Amino acid sequence: MTKEKIAKKKESKEKGITFQCKFCEKFKALEEMILLTRFSPPLVACRACEKRMS
Ligand SMILES: [Zn+2]
Repeated sequence: MTKEKIAKKKESKEKGITFQCKFCEKFKALEEMILLTRFSPPLVACRACEKRMS
């Protein structure tokens, strides 16, 4: 009898790519992020922060 070792892949809790908002410092999904081109260089902000600023 042979024992097969099953390699367990570690899955991170966070699925997909997340970005950190420069303003509230929270990690959000890519679709929650908005590039603010009115800044130079452009800043990445989440929707909540973008709303707050507009
Ligand atoms: Zn934010």
